[in-house]
Amino acid sequence: MICPVCQKEMVEEDFGGVVVDTCKNGCKGIWFDWIELSKLDESNEGIGRALQDALKNSKVNDETRESINCPKCKIKMQIHKYKAAKEINVDECYVCAGFFLDSGELKEIRDNFMSEEEQSEYLNKLLEGNLLWQKSQKDIEKQELRAEALRKYTRFLRLSYYFTGK
Ligand SMILES: [Zn+2]
Ligand SMILES: [Zn+2]
Repeated sequence: MICPVCQKEMVEEDFGGVVVDTCKNGCKGIWFDWIELSKLDESNEGIGRALQDALKNSKVNDETRESINCPKCKIKMQIHKYKAAKEINVDECYVCAGFFLDSGELKEIRDNFMSEEEQSEYLNKLLEGNLLWQKSQKDIEKQELRAEALRKYTRFLRLSYYFTGK
């Protein structure tokens, strides 16, 4: 897969049973496929190690970077903020429900730990933010798939804290 930010070939990495695409030879961005994320559970061995490596990458994204196209669907990805008032922009594809994190964003997410309440608040915000999209989607299955993907995604962000130790 080609990196949507720097156009380099991405590398598939095993995050302890969950395969993610990382831009190892370029911008160090990480692509999360929601089907992969759905395999994630607390017992995934090795994810901590892979995340530790990813956490070493410094932040490169600035506010001025233009939106990117989904590396899978090639359509424009949507940007939303992580939690309220935090300067982390997560790129999300409304079609395949994949997520792209720029280098360093995983670290900031980890450093801004979400409590369980904050996680559900964040999830609700994301779900509400997609109302417009949902209205345009007659396909109920697709809507449910997306809601499920968002659940996995917010849970992953919260769990990344535990996976990498305190
Ligand atoms: Zn890249
Ligand atoms: Zn997509």
